[in-house]
Amino acid sequence: MLDVSLKVLKEITSHSYKAYIVGGFVRDYIIGIESKDIDIATNATPKQLKEIFDDSCLPNEDYGSVIVEKMGIRFEITTFRKEIEYDDNRRPVEIKYIDDLSADLLRRDFVINTICMDENGQILDYLAGRQDIEDRIIRTVGPAYEKFSEDSLRILRAVRFATIFNFDLSDEIVSAIKETKHLVRNLSFYRKKCELDKIFTSPNRKNGIQLLLDLGLDIDLDIPNLYKILNMETTSSIGIWSVLDVEDKYPFNKNELELIGDIKSALILNNMDPMALYRYGLYVNSVAAEIKGKDIKNITESYSSLVIKCRDDIDIDSELIMELLDKAPGKYLKDIYDDIEREILYRRLSNERDKICSYIIEKYKG
Ligand code: ATP
Ligand code: MG
Repeated sequence: MLDVSLKVLKEITSHSYKAYIVGGFVRDYIIGIESKDIDIATNATPKQLKEIFDDSCLPNEDYGSVIVEKMGIRFEITTFRKEIEYDDNRRPVEIKYIDDLSADLLRRDFVINTICMDENGQILDYLAGRQDIEDRIIRTVGPAYEKFSEDSLRILRAVRFATIFNFDLSDEIVSAIKETKHLVRNLSFYRKKCELDKIFTSPNRKNGIQLLLDLGLDIDLDIPNLYKILNMETTSSIGIWSVLDVEDKYPFNKNELELIGDIKSALILNNMDPMALYRYGLYVNSVAAEIKGKDIKNITESYSSLVIKCRDDIDIDSELIMELLDKAPGKYLKDIYDDIEREILYRRLSNERDKICSYIIEKYKG
C-alpha cells in the first residue's frame, strides 16, 4: 500500500508540484494499523490533477478534491487550502487554494492528523503529532472552542479517535465540547450515524459510550437510550441501534429496518424456542440473546437441532394438500401450513410425508 502511495506522490511531484500523504494513513502507519483510504495534500489544483491522472480521476464535488483509484486503493487528493468562515457549523463558505503545506495543516482538526509523508517515505511532523501519539492524547490544531464552533463534526471525530485508539482527549477539548456540544444538532443524522457506527464497532466501544455519556452528548445526539448499551456485550452495530430505538430520526436502509424490527421482536421471545429460531433465524436470535446477556452457544445448538429451518423443508406441498382435501386453493392452505409447521417444530408431528398426510386428513377432511 505504501509503495503504491509513494508512486502516486511521485506522479504528482514529477509535474513539479508538491504532494504529501497526510492525515489518517500516516497516523495509522505510525500507530501500526492499516488504513483503508489515503489522503494526499498537494499544491496542484483539481484541474491540474485531472490533467495528470486524466481517466482514473473523479472529482469529489463536495469538497473540491479529486479521487484517484490505483490498484484498488482510493486516494483522496486535496489541494492545500485555507478555509474561510464557516456556515451552519459544518461547511466552509469559501475555500482559498494556497501554495504552502504548513498553512494547510493549520485548518486540520487534530494534531495527530497533521503528520505528513513525502514521496521518499520521509515523515514531516511540523506540529509534533508524533509526540501526541506517543502521549496518547488528542489535541486540536489551535483553540478547541474555535475548531468545534467552526465544524461540529469534529466533536464526534474527537470522540471517535479517542475511542478507537484508546487515547485521552485534552482537557481543553473536554471543556470545549461541553460548551459547543449543542452544535451537533446541526449535523445531518447520516453524518452522526457514520461516526457513531465507528465508535460502536470499536473493540473499545465501552469507553467511547462512557465518554459520550460523560460529555452529555447522548442528549444532543438524540439517543436517550445510550446508557442502555453501556454494558451490552453485542458486537452487532444493528443490535445496538435496535436498543437505541431511533429509527424515527437516524437513517437506515430497508434491509436494516427489517433487521431492527426482527431484533426488537426477538428481544421479547425466548431465543432458544424453536418457533423464535425458525421465524427470526440464528443471527437475529443470537443478537437478541447477546443484548440480553445470554450465552449464544446454546442458541447455535438449538438452531442446528431444528427439525425444519424454512417452509420448503416441510415434506409436503400445496398441490398435495389440495388433492388430499379435494379443494381449490384458498386461505385455508396457509392455516394448515401454520399448523403443521408448529407441530413439526415442537416435534409433535414427524416431518414425513405419510405422517403429515394422515394428520391433515384426520384434522381437516370433511
Ligand atoms: P479515517 O480516514 O480513519 O476516518 P482520517 O483522519 O483520515 O481518518 P478523513 O476524513 O479521511 O479522516 O480526513 C483526512 C484528513 O483531513 C484528516 O486526517 C484531517 O487532517 C483532515 N480532516 C478531515 N475532516 C476534517 C474536519 N472535519 N476538520 C478539519 N480537518 C479535517
Ligand atoms: Mg482518511
